Amino acid sequence: MNLLDILWPKKCVNCGKFGAYVCEDCKVGLWEEEQICPVCTRNSRYGLPHKYCHKSYGLDGLTCLWSYEGIAKKIIKKAKYKYFYDLLGELINLPEGGEYFYLQKFLQEKPVVVPVPLHEKRYRERGFNQAEVIAKSFAARHKLSCNSHLLFRVRDTGHQAGRERDERLKAVQGAFVITPHNSLPTTVLLIDDVWTTGATMCECCRVLKKAGIEKVWGLALAR
Ligand SMILES: [Zn+2]
Ligand SMILES: [Zn+2]
Repeated sequence: MNLLDILWPKKCVNCGKFGAYVCEDCKVGLWEEEQICPVCTRNSRYGLPHKYCHKSYGLDGLTCLWSYEGIAKKIIKKAKYKYFYDLLGELINLPEGGEYFYLQKFLQEKPVVVPVPLHEKRYRERGFNQAEVIAKSFAARHKLSCNSHLLFRVRDTGHQAGRERDERLKAVQGAFVITPHNSLPTTVLLIDDVWTTGATMCECCRVLKKAGIEKVWGLALAR
């Protein structure tokens, strides 16, 4: 046990028991999500786009780790507040299993990890970008480099809740640009906290690929 654990003991987000952010009993409330095609959002093994769905500027694969309910939802909501963001670490471990085979393969290509950026205004309000916290921590665990400045959000798209996928796609069009003076990687692992309709991640991917990046895989903690 280190000093921090004594000064600020970890407590289960669900039941309040001391010792860990998610205690062993409550871990059963963390459900793995079924993987979907990033284009049509219907089920697809390994998160690969269906052959007839594949688009040149679209994601080459998508992994959503947990169902956005139960413990995962609690953690993500709580981590929107600054002092709790290290809670996100609980969700970053890749579960074991065949569904992650193509993601693992993609990671061997040493992609640069890039978080979906927040607009500056939101960043100032919140003090941090959740996607960036996840990206940095994921990159560290997998010994990858992380670039939080490759993408820049030029427009604040406001609250997307309640909007349909088409509306959301329209709302995010042109909201992101590549920051100048960046040397472009060939492969990118794009990170966000939650995949709702996928509009944001798909738009980021389109911008990255138009700039010449060859392969982009999306990873969201929950869906
Ligand atoms: Zn618990
Ligand atoms: Zn599809």
